[in-house]
Amino acid sequence: MFITFEGIDGSGKSTQLDLLANYLEQKNKKVIKVREPGGTILGEKIRDLLLNFPMNSRSELLLFLASRAQLVDEIIKPSLKKGYFVLADRFTDSSIAYQGGARNLGIDLVENLNSFATDNILPNIVFFIDIPVNIAITRILKKDRIEKEGKNFLEKVRDTYLKISMKKDNFYVIDGNQDVEGVFLQIKNIVDSYLDH
Ligand code: C5P
Repeated sequence: MFITFEGIDGSGKSTQLDLLANYLEQKNKKVIKVREPGGTILGEKIRDLLLNFPMNSRSELLLFLASRAQLVDEIIKPSLKKGYFVLADRFTDSSIAYQGGARNLGIDLVENLNSFATDNILPNIVFFIDIPVNIAITRILKKDRIEKEGKNFLEKVRDTYLKISMKKDNFYVIDGNQDVEGVFLQIKNIVDSYLDH
């Protein structure tokens, strides 16, 4: 099963991913965690470029896609074949929200390019950890190039995530404005319902 965690920077998605990994491991499931951009040798080099060097929006999108294409072939596909739960810290919906929405490249364009980059691999479940931008901003301590964009940018990212949520059944909006345990309980209940099937 392939589960992705999405959200604006500072939403707490990485913490929730770790909690879910522990929970599944306690249930004797095989779990692998990946992060985007990165997760492979090439991907980590691309991450460094993306987070530290100035570039235009099209280059930014294409680098994210290159990192993703490599991650899909090297890790995600082989792990799914071996029966792992693959938990991803960001995936295709990040590109839709950040580059498609906030950078105005267009949702449809990014969706098409995502399909190409992923060879049509789709997550079974997407958790969008939703928190107000004002709160997210107070949580981001060390800012990378993209996080320096500020409040309006993150508002556009969040709006785009919420827009996508209306189009996809397996895209769950999780109220992230609670304590860590409260957020996890929402995620756990949804995952349990899939495990019971
Ligand atoms: O989630 P994480 O902090 O690792 O993401 C790294 C940076 O890349 C963040 O600033 C995030 O906003 C940005 N990002 C982006 N477009 C994506 C994925 C991540 O701008 N498609």
